[in-house]
Amino acid sequence: MKGSIFIVSAPSGAGKTTLCKRLTEVMPRIVHSISYTTRQAREGEVDGRDYFFVDESRFMKMVGAGEFLEWAEVHGNLYGTSRTRLFETVQEGIDVILDIDTQGAAQIRQKGIDATFIFVLPPSMDILKERLSSRRTDSEDVIARRLEKAREEIGDYRLYDYVIVNDRLDVALNELGSVVLSKRLHISRVDHGWIKETFGLEGDAL
Ligand code: ADP
Ligand code: 5GP
Repeated sequence: MKGSIFIVSAPSGAGKTTLCKRLTEVMPRIVHSISYTTRQAREGEVDGRDYFFVDESRFMKMVGAGEFLEWAEVHGNLYGTSRTRLFETVQEGIDVILDIDTQGAAQIRQKGIDATFIFVLPPSMDILKERLSSRRTDSEDVIARRLEKAREEIGDYRLYDYVIVNDRLDVALNELGSVVLSKRLHISRVDHGWIKETFGLEGDAL
């Protein structure tokens, strides 16, 4: 059985990186897709773990070679998801979670790729601002730019299948895990061969 694709979008600072990282730590058989970006690494970020940090010319070469399933400019930097890596992982039966912006999510939807779309909201704009500041990774003007963009991104929430409000982290994590679990238990994901064999069902009953 192939793995599933989960797309998680949220305005910057809502906590989607934290949520996705925690989920892959506590749940088996799900990994976080590592994007390519032209953004500078933040303190503590590791190349090949958090992102593949590349320069713009390398990124644009990859665009030209059709290596990205989706890519977009976000807050003045380029971000993209490698097509091969994603499909290889899914082929191995492992679920993949993509933490990407609303433009990238829209591209994946337009391509008709089977995926579950999840939108993460902060509890309020004030808390979003607090979280962006408390992360201590971005300058004042970067934070101001991200807040300005937040309202625009939140406007796209209706395009998603599920909405999670990240107020208490443990609650939001549980909710994200529940969406993944419900997809795993869906009839389209069930191992029909195993059921047939185990319960002696004949023919095309399933
Ligand atoms: P994003 O990836 O959406 O930009 P992050 O995961 O980097 O956001 O989170 C932004 C900041 O908010 C981080 O400092 C993180 O530790 C904090 N944070 C995330 N979720 C919560 C939460 N539920 N409650 C309080 N702080 C949170
Ligand atoms: P950050 O710089 O805070 O890590 O991410 C900024 C924004 O870029 C976030 O909204 C994040 O979801 C988005 N992003 C990260 N990787 C990708 C990607 O591969 N494609 C797209 N379209 N957006 C991405």
